[in-house]
Amino acid sequence: MASIEFKNVIKRYGAGPKANQVIHGVNADIADGEFIVIVGPSGCGKSTLLRMVAGLEEISGGTISIGGRVVNQLEPAQRDIAMVFQNYALYPHMSVFENMAYGLKIAKVPKEEIRARVDKAAAILELGHLLERTPRQLSGGQRQRVAMGRAIVRQPKVFLFDEPLSNLDAKLRAQTRLEIEKLHRELGITSLFVTHDQVEAMTLAQRMIVMNAGRMEQFGTPEEVYHHP
Ligand code: ADP
Ligand code: ADP
Repeated sequence: MASIEFKNVIKRYGAGPKANQVIHGVNADIADGEFIVIVGPSGCGKSTLLRMVAGLEEISGGTISIGGRVVNQLEPAQRDIAMVFQNYALYPHMSVFENMAYGLKIAKVPKEEIRARVDKAAAILELGHLLERTPRQLSGGQRQRVAMGRAIVRQPKVFLFDEPLSNLDAKLRAQTRLEIEKLHRELGITSLFVTHDQVEAMTLAQRMIVMNAGRMEQFGTPEEVYHHP
């Protein structure tokens, strides 16, 4: 687990007179193990903020720290993060086990260690009985759990969720939301969850960052944000 600190974080796309500043000095201190939702209308900069934490987007100014370490110059693989996306692309020809183990195999984690980590993730996500199936033999919800399992086995210090619920039907959305809550309860991993959906934000957040036009307008518990809009 790790704290996350945003210190006067700025993002500009492009350079020179045509540069477009889309993040205007975000400051926020996030504690170890917190579940933070970043919410705001489309185009306000949520995704950009998340991608800067992930190392997928350069930081134009200020610093982002994870666990007290400035990560501005670190590659994604050095940041101890795992990202869960809208589209949970699994390898179709691999079993559930192989899908979850693949990244660890590439990283040369010993076989027994891989087995132990996959088994633990499978237990949390109730995938134990599905390890030999291929993605085609799974329901939509099961596929998503495999994708989350793939993120868990990396043992990241931080989870980044980029609108993971927005393409789902109502039933699957509710189910996945509960799984994400359970995951956080059991593993306590510091999480940043991006959504444009106010209700989703209120439901999931311990604290929420309300963004508007590249600025952080509010940062507080759902109660605080609701009572002081
Ligand atoms: P959100 O996730 O809240 O919808 P984004 O972070 O995707 O917002 O976008 C914030 C702003 O940055 C928008 O004005 C968007 O058009 C712009 N933007 C996002 N990505 C790029 C990019 N790769 N190049 C230029 N502008 C971008
Ligand atoms: P591959 O993506 O080829 O299956 P890896 O899992 O080793 O193999 O990932 C390659 C790169 O992508 C590494 O830098 C790794 O840190 C990054 N990466 C892969 N999956 C994730 C994830 N869920 N979250 C964050 N980074 C990831």
